[in-house]
Parts: sequence; C-alpha cells; structure tokens
Amino acid sequence: MSVESGSPQGGGRQGGGPAGGGPQVAGQRGYDSRGGEQPFRAGFAALVGRPNVGKSTLLNALVGEKLSIVTPRPQTTRHRVLGVVTAPEAQIAFVDTPGLHRGVRRALNRAMNRTAAAALHDADVSVLVVEALRWTAEDDLVLDRIRECSRPAVACVNKIDRVRPRERLLPYLADLARRHDFAEIVPVSGSKRDNLDALTAAIARHLPESPQLFPSEQRTDRDLNFRIAETIREKLTLELLEELPYGIAVEIERTAEADGQLEVGAAIWVDRPGQKPIVIGARGERLKRIGRAARLELNRALGRRLHLQLWVKVREGWADNARALQQLGLET
Ligand code: GDP
Ligand code: MG
Repeated sequence: MSVESGSPQGGGRQGGGPAGGGPQVAGQRGYDSRGGEQPFRAGFAALVGRPNVGKSTLLNALVGEKLSIVTPRPQTTRHRVLGVVTAPEAQIAFVDTPGLHRGVRRALNRAMNRTAAAALHDADVSVLVVEALRWTAEDDLVLDRIRECSRPAVACVNKIDRVRPRERLLPYLADLARRHDFAEIVPVSGSKRDNLDALTAAIARHLPESPQLFPSEQRTDRDLNFRIAETIREKLTLELLEELPYGIAVEIERTAEADGQLEVGAAIWVDRPGQKPIVIGARGERLKRIGRAARLELNRALGRRLHLQLWVKVREGWADNARALQQLGLET
C-alpha cells in the first residue's frame, strides 16, 4: 500500500499502513490487548460518491463546522474542500469532492470529475459514500474508480435515518460486501450525526502511522474569501433551485475593513445575458434575499458583521472556457 500522498509537511511520515508490515502492528485493530501505547495515525480520507449522497453534509458533521455547502441540488460541490479532525489517537484530513458523474460534455463537468479523481488518487483511504438502500449505475462508476487506485476502501452507508425498521438495511449491507472487499462498512446518518464516531474510528484504523499533518486547531485549508463565495453560491442555489442557470459562479472582488464591519464586494457570474434578470428578480428582490441569507449565515458563522454587495455580471460561455474556470479556481 502506498503512503506517498504528498503530505503538506512532506516526507515526515513513516511508511507502512496497516498492511505495510514493519514492527508496529499492535495498533492494527485500534485495540492493543497488551495495553501498550497506540501509534498515532494520520492521513487523507477522500469522500467520494455520486452527486447528492450527502458527502458535504458528512464533512460538515464530522468536522463540526460548516465548511462545505449543501443543497438538495446535485453537483453543488465544485471544489475540493478539506476538513481536518484531530483526535488523541489520529488525525484525519477529510477531502470533500464533487460527485463523480457521467455528464462530461461541458468543461466545468469535466473539471469537477477531475477534481474528484485527483482527490481519490492522493488519499490514503477512500471513503465510498452511498445512500442507504440505493445502488445506481453511477455508484458502479465510482466504485470502479476506487478499485483503480487500490487503497483501503471504507463504505459509508449514509441517510440511515430514512430506514425504518433498521433491519431493512441488512440485505443492503450484505450486498455491498459482495460488490467489493471493503475494509469496513459503516452505516451512518450525516444529518442526524448518527454513528459518526464509528466512521472516524474505522477510517483511522487504515491510515498510516504518521505524526500530525496539520496543527490541532486547523479545520480547513480554505480561506475566508472561499467561505464567503461558497455561502453566497449556496444561497443562490437554494433560492433559484430548478431555475438555477448551469453556468453560475461567485467571485469575491474586494474586501475591506470599515467601522468594525467587513465590507465584501462579490460578483455573481452568469454565462448568458438572459440569465441576469433571473438572478436579480423583479425589482431586485431575489438578489436582495440571496444577499440577506448569505449575510445572516456569515455573521453567525464568523462572529462578526458583514456588509455584502452583490453584482450580477455576464461572462459569456465561462463554464466552457478553460481560462475562465482557472480564474474562478475551478481548475486544479
Ligand atoms: P453531496 O452532493 O454528496 O455533497 O450531498 P449533500 O451533502 O449536498 O446533500 C444532498 C442532500 O441530501 C441534501 O438535501 C441533504 O440535506 C441531504 N442529506 C445529507 N445527509 C443526509 C442524511 O444523513 N439523511 C437525510 N435524510 N438526508 C441527508
Ligand atoms: Mg457536495
């Protein structure tokens, strides 16, 4: 098993995961019957799955902070988002990814699939997130990708809060075990925070022995501007839902401190002139609601007052333009 995952501190990690041999096999099952010290484990766990299975909800619940945006619309996550959990015996850097999907016609979709594939490639453990009692052709596609990278894979069966009685899960879990030799299968509910400790413990068991990769207090590698832009995009998505233009992106153009407030100017990019009035709404009502919802959430999350100014701008065909994707941070 490879542990060459390009850690940010580079090279400081000992080789050998659970299957890597070496003398320290005692902690292999997370339980040392001789009562000795557990080796500390650390590494990257990629949350992969088809769109809408609940990867971002899970990341936020695991980290205990809203780092990744969530909407009922598939393909909301476009970027790789890191969420770090530090426990006494392990540190897991979870990587939320865009859902791997079949729509590869447009440049933006291809970029999203590449982002997810790269995260999978760089991870120490793959976490396949699936929806309880459902298996689709897209899940097969993701599992194929997991097989290709031959890392330990944990299956996370999400949304079990919808399954009553719980015994109905059993045949599904058995079926999953037949599909692939998963290192662990863990049923959870991200939104109800059910069984998440079991999930982190299961993942930690398959990480390489390593010192911490991030300072204990660090939760993410994303900056404030990213968080503000993503929150605005979430509110846009929730407000527009079915009317949401495919090519929409948010870019923070300026931030400044004034009178103890954070002033933020953000551009909402659409890729056709006809989409502009849809986003703005009659008398600007829609854009106002979007700005208000984003501001309220950010005030609360950041513990400070924000002043948000939003402009809708047209950059024709940006979602099919590689350079525009790069400028908006969508091409990794
Ligand atoms: P992603 O596309 O895989 O990142 O999925 P999201 O995290 O954006 O969630 C997609 C939808 O599933 C949202 O409407 C979530 O509220 C919902 N969802 C996520 N986790 C759960 C869960 O554990 N139970 C239920 N019932 N719904 C969930
Ligand atoms: Mg997501």
